[in-house]
Amino acid sequence: MIQITMPLGFLGTVYREIRQALVDMGEMFDLLHQPSEIEDKPGANVLNVQGGEVVLENVEFHYDPTRPILKGISLSVPAGKTVALVGPSGSGKSTIGRLLFRFYDVTGGAIKIDGQDLRDVTQDSLHNAIGVVPQDTVLFNDTIRYNIAYGRANASEAEIVEAAKAAKIHDFIMDLPDGYDTSVGERGLKLSGGEKQRVGIARTILKNPPILLLDEATSALDTQTERDIQDSLKAMGQGRTVITIAHRLSTIADSDEIVVLEKGEIVERGHHEELLARHGRYAAMWARQSAEEEEAQEGAA
Ligand code: ATP
Repeated sequence: MIQITMPLGFLGTVYREIRQALVDMGEMFDLLHQPSEIEDKPGANVLNVQGGEVVLENVEFHYDPTRPILKGISLSVPAGKTVALVGPSGSGKSTIGRLLFRFYDVTGGAIKIDGQDLRDVTQDSLHNAIGVVPQDTVLFNDTIRYNIAYGRANASEAEIVEAAKAAKIHDFIMDLPDGYDTSVGERGLKLSGGEKQRVGIARTILKNPPILLLDEATSALDTQTERDIQDSLKAMGQGRTVITIAHRLSTIADSDEIVVLEKGEIVERGHHEELLARHGRYAAMWARQSAEEEEAQEGAA
């Protein structure tokens, strides 16, 4: 079990909540001026990203030694390909995301990027290589420009605007009273879930990482917003290695590989069509979600 002794109280709660939400760890440490519990090994190398291939080799993990969470996960995401992790709540999807970002070290096996074990490289270089689009983008109490530019501190105005356009939030920003200078966050203009997600996408586009970790929102946004966001995410994924932690199967049907997890083990894997034809767990999940979506549509009509 990892002990968190500092900071206490409120900051401690914020710290744990943010970590759980799978936000960019680099940002978070800047925000809270907190050192990571995971330390760089002496003489750690800078991660040398070639194409961005991600490999999990027989990965085992537990938060608590009495309760194994991942029980020998092996998977490979070739450079530029997309893999979706699906499975019931608690099956270990987000945990895999946390390990890839090295919030924790694996307790067995290894995770490698372009052949380099995550434990052998500096955390800075690892965090630079991975863009995380979390379920809930954390906004800083600052201008919307600052919030986008957080993806890359030295970005020019033109680059910020370009990223905002690609994330389809530029027009929305231009309609705000102070444009890019509008204050957002808890003490400023409150943004909707979809708008916040677009800021997160713009931030990640600006960061331009070779590897993307998408933590899909559990609660569906309204359908048009959802479709637009999916389009932005797909466009951003072009030419990058993408791992999606998925809750709704309709958004990941075209992934290069779908990995079905259950209780910390891979129980099925393959393309969407292959998995449907197998009439196994994925096919059952698909049938259930399709029926639910139909019901919701009928209810809305
Ligand atoms: P969901 O679809 O609900 O997000 P998931 O598949 O992403 O679920 P994980 O968040 O990876 O599941 O959790 C896997 C298991 O690990 C769960 O049983 C959960 O209770 C446990 N777990 C997650 N985070 C911690 C933690 N910080 N400490 C102890 N146990 C944890």
